[in-house]
Amino acid sequence: MSESFDVIVIGAGPGGYVCAIRAAQLGMKVACVEKRATLGGTCLNIGCIPSKALLQSSENYEEAAHHFADHGIGVGQLTLDLARMQARKGEVVGANVKGVEFLFKKNKVTWLKGAGRITAPGKVEVEGATYETKNIIIATGSDSAPLKGVEVDEKQIVTSTGALELEKVPGHLVVIGGGVIGLELGSVWRRLGAEVTVIEFLDRLVPGMDGEIAKQFERVLSKQGIKFKLKSKVTGATKGKDGVTLAVEPAAGGTAEEIKADVVLLAIGRRPYVEGLGLDAAGVALDERGRVKVDGHFATNVPGIYAIGDVIAGPMLAHKAEEEGVAVAEILAGQHGHVNYAAIPGVVYTWPEVASVGETEETLKEAGTAYKVGKFPFTANGRARAMGTTDGFVKILADKETDRVLGAHILGPDAGTLIAELVMAIEFGASAEDVARICHAHPSLNEAVKEAALAVDGRALHI
Ligand SMILES: Cc1cc2nc3c(=O)[nH]c(=O)nc-3n(C[C@H](O)[C@H](O)[C@H](O)COP(=O)(O)OP(=O)(O)OC[C@H]3O[C@@H](n4cnc5c(N)ncnc54)[C@H](O)[C@@H]3O)c2cc1C
Repeated sequence: MSESFDVIVIGAGPGGYVCAIRAAQLGMKVACVEKRATLGGTCLNIGCIPSKALLQSSENYEEAAHHFADHGIGVGQLTLDLARMQARKGEVVGANVKGVEFLFKKNKVTWLKGAGRITAPGKVEVEGATYETKNIIIATGSDSAPLKGVEVDEKQIVTSTGALELEKVPGHLVVIGGGVIGLELGSVWRRLGAEVTVIEFLDRLVPGMDGEIAKQFERVLSKQGIKFKLKSKVTGATKGKDGVTLAVEPAAGGTAEEIKADVVLLAIGRRPYVEGLGLDAAGVALDERGRVKVDGHFATNVPGIYAIGDVIAGPMLAHKAEEEGVAVAEILAGQHGHVNYAAIPGVVYTWPEVASVGETEETLKEAGTAYKVGKFPFTANGRARAMGTTDGFVKILADKETDRVLGAHILGPDAGTLIAELVMAIEFGASAEDVARICHAHPSLNEAVKEAALAVDGRALHI
């Protein structure tokens, strides 16, 4: 028998590595098992961070190509060095994953390199060695969901992982799935010169987000040149030397048509990843969607085994995984770790961005909750005008009786940063009136948040 620990975390994504650090801070002897060559999981290696690096680079390119002239700036002959752009992305990822390694050393978290398998409660096998532990935390994340008839090769038909690595701008990129990942990566390649078509089964984009925002978002992206084929399903893909031919049918059934693509990005969602973990043998129960089943304290049905992050229910977001990692470490230390699922923001990092927290009009109607709406457009915000980016609006939903903020949705410049104020409002149980009475710096984009809060009571000042 090898070394023993208080906690072994399996998976070093944002859920697992943050959990390991917090548990170590609380005085536990901690190991984290990771089979990838670097720490940081999907998020740092093939998710949030590389996609944001390419979003930033492609945004800079688009600004230089199309918007600098509005400011009186000429750049002459613009060139694209995609190899350099990809190398920069690699440098950003490299710095982040090394940062986690440093944090492990600083907090004395042992990295057990290799794939972890639970051989029994309290026992984890890694590369032939068995380690004993009082608690096991499953944080093995997720991978891309497959689609029947569409075989991924990560060259012509790619998941997000391949879409982050393309060596050439595709002539025509077809994205299957109008969710966050498809729209972000579709935006990257459109900005760099690809024709982009998004095929979506539903009649709307970004399912789960506020319907009005989704409609407006679709208009803005269409104006930028992305083509949408909604209420459509891809039923097959044939690869040839000069591209891929997709068979596409109306979602409700009907005559199929063919769409040709140079590259196809399959982005229909992600599924929990538990392969090779030995959950069957350990007796850990999964739910109907293959996610590890946990109670309100992240405990599975097997004593001493917990799970967090993408592998359990809830939004598949890095910050949700992190919060759960902190909460479960605190619970193990006898504290009252807790995650407020009503206050988890979701952001689409396109330009403009989309950010959302709490209830939508659709969920409030479904629950029969009476609510008020306050909206404010960025066309009426001085800073947005100065920046030359006035698409979108802020929308706040508040309880009709109590005025408490129940949800907030922003389509607009830096929406992902602006939403933080409204996440805090929900966390603190603030009313729209509370937000409206806060002094906001002028001229700032945040003033649109204040104005939307004023608009809840019909008293916006600048519209
Ligand atoms: C392209 C893309 C963009 C994204 N952008 C964002 C974003 O902007 N914001 C956001 O919040 N979220 C984003 N996400 C989602 C985010 O990456 C995930 O929600 C997050 O990584 C989940 O964290 P996790 O710790 O649960 O799992 P993961 O990050 O998936 O980490 C799990 C780790 O476990 C390891 N592992 C699995 N099984 C074993 C085993 N048996 N033994 C050892 N190791 C194992 C895996 O190698 C992996 O490193 C994005 C995802 C993608 C794909």
